[in-house]
Amino acid sequence: MDFYWIKTNKIIKQIFSNQVWDLPNTEKKIYLTFDDGPTPEATGWILSVLKEHAVKATFFCIGDNIRKHPDLFRKIVSEGHSIGNHTYHHLQGWKTTNKAYLENIRLCEEEIRIQMTNNRQQAADSRQQTAEIGIQPPENSSQKNETSLTKNLQTATSNLKSKLFRPPYGKIRPLQSAQLRKKGYRIIMWDVLSADFDYKVSPEKCLSNVVENTAQGSIIVFHDSKKAFRNVEYVLPKAIKILKEKGFQFATID
Ligand SMILES: [Zn+2]
Repeated sequence: MDFYWIKTNKIIKQIFSNQVWDLPNTEKKIYLTFDDGPTPEATGWILSVLKEHAVKATFFCIGDNIRKHPDLFRKIVSEGHSIGNHTYHHLQGWKTTNKAYLENIRLCEEEIRIQMTNNRQQAADSRQQTAEIGIQPPENSSQKNETSLTKNLQTATSNLKSKLFRPPYGKIRPLQSAQLRKKGYRIIMWDVLSADFDYKVSPEKCLSNVVENTAQGSIIVFHDSKKAFRNVEYVLPKAIKILKEKGFQFATID
């Protein structure tokens, strides 16, 4: 990315008001998002940090990465985070024909659906196996875990119906955007860019980008990619702590 704003300009939000830039609310809710995963270099670590701080987020996944790392994808879902589509091959909308762009998004949607179905099937299989070998699952943790997995899958499936899409590089043609919205997608942009992907941005600057620009309703962009990991590893735990101290609550986009 050659040029970018850390805080999205109000005028841009007004011009492209069909896209979601922030989610105003009265409860000081903010929305962490992670693009470009799942990747073995970053996603697992990020999930453990989110879990440790009891924070839920939204992951805009690349279809091809879901195919390569299905276990990580399922972990995101089973831990209660939201999922969004980020194309199958991380295409740049301005450089791609509308037909190819929409087809690539459909492929990603298909990959998400396959993994969600497998996930549900695995949960059902494990229930079946438990019943067949006559093991009475203990009342406590495992049953609770299964209930929460089922609940998370239901939430994830209903999130799929609402269909979230984030254009790679934030570049999407108006017609592509209109056609996706017609298909039921919400186009999720952002209010605050951490710039974690930019190697010229120091971890300290990346942290201040986030904590100084976040306001009620902000959608904040991080990346669960190998490239951004140096910054994310430094910033994420600190940003969560500081933003919590400022009274913000973390929510998923759904
Ligand atoms: Zn991306």
